[in-house]
Amino acid sequence: MSNYKVDENGYYGKFGGAYIPEMLHPHIEELKNNFRHIIAEEEFQTEFSSLLKDYVGRPTPLYYASRMSELYQTNIYFKREDLNHTGAHKVNNTIGQILLAKRLGKTRIIAETGAGQHGVATATVCALMGLECIVYMGAKDVERQAPNVNRMKMLGAKVEAVHSGSKTLKDATNEAIRDWINNPDTYYLIGSVVGPHPYPEMVALFQSVISDEIKWQLKEKTGSEFPDAVIACVGGGSNAAGAFYHFTNHPNTRLIAVEAAGEGVNTGKSAATTALGSIGILHGSKSLMMQTVDGQIVEPHSISAGLDYPGIGPFHAHLYDTKRGEFYSATDEEAVKSAYELTKLEGIIPALETAHATAILKKLKFKKEENVVINLSGRGDKDLATYISYINE
Ligand SMILES: *Cc1c(COP(=O)(O)O)cnc(C)c1O
Repeated sequence: MSNYKVDENGYYGKFGGAYIPEMLHPHIEELKNNFRHIIAEEEFQTEFSSLLKDYVGRPTPLYYASRMSELYQTNIYFKREDLNHTGAHKVNNTIGQILLAKRLGKTRIIAETGAGQHGVATATVCALMGLECIVYMGAKDVERQAPNVNRMKMLGAKVEAVHSGSKTLKDATNEAIRDWINNPDTYYLIGSVVGPHPYPEMVALFQSVISDEIKWQLKEKTGSEFPDAVIACVGGGSNAAGAFYHFTNHPNTRLIAVEAAGEGVNTGKSAATTALGSIGILHGSKSLMMQTVDGQIVEPHSISAGLDYPGIGPFHAHLYDTKRGEFYSATDEEAVKSAYELTKLEGIIPALETAHATAILKKLKFKKEENVVINLSGRGDKDLATYISYINE
């Protein structure tokens, strides 16, 4: 069996590494040389766990969904990341990185965001720590995501609208990297298991609290630490990486990743990276991405802003490449229907991203005695308008 931990050069199999401008090498070296020993320090661990407990509200429950279990004739458990402060898993990572940034002596935090969810999670922890926060966001996204822009502003962040290129996420990323090159005292806070090494590993570590908890919670409920399957949606891949983390070397646990098919994998309006992508360099690492023959990024499409990303992180590319992970996709319509079903049966309105993971229950059959854990990555308050208008169209 392959090794699913990153190697010393920052690779998962043939994916990963740090493909960055020369000027960024000192910043990345500083991070690479320090993050492991900093997060291993007892004082760091204590502060991280106490914030996760008292500020974020962890541990999040592992909930046995009896009506969904009956419908699908298997045992379905939801890992309730939707109950975290700020409504999703993203805050696990931003708390970890802000503590790291402080210990590196950084006073200014930058981030990029597409839908604004990572921007909000970053602005939140910057307010918590009293640090300056600048969030780069494509001008088009600033318009589309007004509620999150307002949240960030209320939290004290400066939102920089980026007017170059397609005015979306990749342009915001370019601008954040430019800023970082020019400002050595700045910490670049990345929101998923993407970016140059060591970010993918670091973010996965901070999110691994999810599978850490699943293990003891499932043991309490079933007597076994290991589920038969873990299901999660994949944008960049951080909630999935966190939910899979402690099970990757346990072959009896199936790792099921669900990407966004948008209007359909072959419609030209999709974000199903493993189905449509090829090897390339995106956001500073080698991974799978949607690109034209001459390497231009293909604009992704998904009804859920958080899955609207043209690639996946190197850990997931490796899971896909070695067939350790099973990759599926769900369309906009399948996700919306699944969200309505989950809401009616369990009284839980999931995030649109999350609804892609639950949608897969219609396509996969599990045995009656199997234990299936679905990572409920976030809550759906932010998506209500989309849910209502989709059904009324
Ligand atoms: C951002 C987001 C995602 C997608 O990001 P990953 O890094 O793939 O986890 C999924 N679910 C929710 C609720 C999100 O906010």
